[in-house]
Amino acid sequence: MAIPPELRRLLAERDKNRCAYCLTTEENCGSRMHVDHIIPETAGGKTTLDNLCLACFSCNVHKSANQKGLDPLTKTTVPLFHPVQQNWRDHFTWDDSKTKIMGLTACGRATVLTLQMNHPTVTKARRRWVSAGWHPPAM
Ligand SMILES: [Zn+2]
Repeated sequence: MAIPPELRRLLAERDKNRCAYCLTTEENCGSRMHVDHIIPETAGGKTTLDNLCLACFSCNVHKSANQKGLDPLTKTTVPLFHPVQQNWRDHFTWDDSKTKIMGLTACGRATVLTLQMNHPTVTKARRRWVSAGWHPPAM
């Protein structure tokens, strides 16, 4: 479903023009954020502010219609991070180099794995953003 322009504007403002999962900014990646249905439309998710978030191409493609993922530590399947209902800092942090996202919880680890949030392509880009002082974004 097409996102009405006013809803898109509200999302961009709330999510600070960055991916609600990996925090990549539009300014750094140079491409417009996608709009993710947190609960997929195929599962009954609505096109409303509380069920939408901005997502980069990579997170959006890997999340797809997934609502759960495997926590590699406990080997359990758990719900993925919900950017509207949960706080990013409760579930994720940056490693010392600031190029990799570390899951702090089962939910965080499962989301990092499922969305491939540390894919080599993005970690290489993050290394450049860090050296330029553009990353990580202020919380
Ligand atoms: Zn992302």
